[in-house]
Amino acid sequence: NELLLEVEDLHVEFRTSDGVANVLNGVSYSVHAGETLAVLGESGSGKSVTAQTVMGILDVPPGVITGGAIRYRGEDLLTATEERRRELRGAEIAMIFQDALSALNPVFTIGFQIEEQLRVRQGMSKKDARKRAIELLDIVRIPAAERRIKDYPHQFSGGMRQRAMIAMSLALDPDLLIADEPTTALDVTVQAQIMDLLSEIQRERRMGLILITHDLGVVAETADRIAVMYAGRIVEQADVRELFRAPGHPYTSALMDSLPRLDLKGQTLETIKGLPPSLLDIPPGCPFHPRCKRAEQRCSEERPSLHGLGFGRVSACHFAEEVVESRG
Ligand code: SF4
Ligand code: MG
Repeated sequence: NELLLEVEDLHVEFRTSDGVANVLNGVSYSVHAGETLAVLGESGSGKSVTAQTVMGILDVPPGVITGGAIRYRGEDLLTATEERRRELRGAEIAMIFQDALSALNPVFTIGFQIEEQLRVRQGMSKKDARKRAIELLDIVRIPAAERRIKDYPHQFSGGMRQRAMIAMSLALDPDLLIADEPTTALDVTVQAQIMDLLSEIQRERRMGLILITHDLGVVAETADRIAVMYAGRIVEQADVRELFRAPGHPYTSALMDSLPRLDLKGQTLETIKGLPPSLLDIPPGCPFHPRCKRAEQRCSEERPSLHGLGFGRVSACHFAEEVVESRG
């Protein structure tokens, strides 16, 4: 499968009045056509910032890229002109967000917002753009698309808005879609429907999909690979089956232990004690050590680097091999 996106050793800082926040500290991942990579982590772990940097919309003013590379089909995005990046946005790489209401413009109809992209970016006639917009709403299963296309975003339910945003993201036929917590704001039933829809569209179009989520439960059925982020680093990356069979990092284990399981009724869920570190002051050694049940002296002194464990799995834990064995 064709390699679409490579993020390599990406470093991002936010220069704030309180000091330098080390938001990304060497993030690397890649996505191939037809593949879903889930990027999992708590809020502040850097999963959204990585995506925003890929999209070239790292618009928080103090954000500075201090190192690394982002390549799309071999083309370096960090050195590309703003004009070139605009060309790629939407047409090659598109993004959908948690909150469709803020991504959609409230003063224009859903139809207008889709059609305008098609007219401006693809030079379609008004009539063709209308026809295509209705097709796109059909693809995301918005009922009575011909009528609903004239509605404004606030006339749609949360789930329908999310579908409309997906339709809009597909308008220019991107090869890579980045979905940042696309179902977080929705109720559980609607979440499942939207995830099914996304998976189906991803498979049919053989798109690369980056699914950003804090919810390990969402990724099990959707993702091919999972990258787990903590404090601006990837701490584990693995094939989804391998990871669920036996996590290779204590943080991944802890996330799994906090997942509700249908087969263990009445169990008390283990939550991870403590909070993620401040990015202004990341602990020395392993950034997870203050919260890690397995931590030893070495962990507070020596930073573990990502290393391979076979089957394409990497982990940044001094004891990764033992962690895998204890579960497997
Ligand atoms: Fe825990 Fe140490 Fe592994 Fe970090 S390196 S995850 S503190 S055992
Ligand atoms: Mg986020």
